[in-house]
Amino acid sequence: MMIGILALQGAVREHRNMLNRLGAETVDVLYATDLIGLDGLVLPGGESTTTGKLLERNNLLEPIADLGREGLPIFGTCTGMILLSKHIIGSEQQRLGLMDTYVERNAFGRQLASFEADMSIPVLGEKPFPCVFIRAPYIEKVEANVKPLLGYDSKILFAEQDNLLAAAFHPELTDDGRVHQYFLQKITRRNKR
Ligand code: GLN
Repeated sequence: MMIGILALQGAVREHRNMLNRLGAETVDVLYATDLIGLDGLVLPGGESTTTGKLLERNNLLEPIADLGREGLPIFGTCTGMILLSKHIIGSEQQRLGLMDTYVERNAFGRQLASFEADMSIPVLGEKPFPCVFIRAPYIEKVEANVKPLLGYDSKILFAEQDNLLAAAFHPELTDDGRVHQYFLQKITRRNKR
């Protein structure tokens, strides 16, 4: 299984280490030609206005959006979740615009710029998952075709829509591989069809 990791900025190495540990091969994605033959794509955290501009500069916005619409499994963490969203509250910044979500950026305010919390995510099993938030966004609301996987206080922090998966937190910064495993299982199910 070959997973591309968008390598324009952010926590690329941590995603690579996690996916390799789980038995997937990885390739850095910088240009559209790097997208050929992928089974899945990861969009790491970073800064979403910057990543959006770099996506445009490297002519990646349309090719990735097309693949997402065609069903390529894509997993976005933090900035990746913002880029996947059709709606970014109060912002016109570039995006892939694939998920029917309304995302609020830097949503936890200055005091809570960065924090960690063990949270129960039913699709991952009983053991709580160590969620690391760094200037994190949250999903304010979703259309009916989006499935929330983790909610907190009426906000959504982890969600999926068909082939797309988005987390407000950073599972690549922990030792717990269950979120990445969940993404790989989505790919396996798709490849079997
Ligand atoms: N606050 C960042 C943004 O708006 C996201 C932070 C992150 O990816 N850790 O893009």
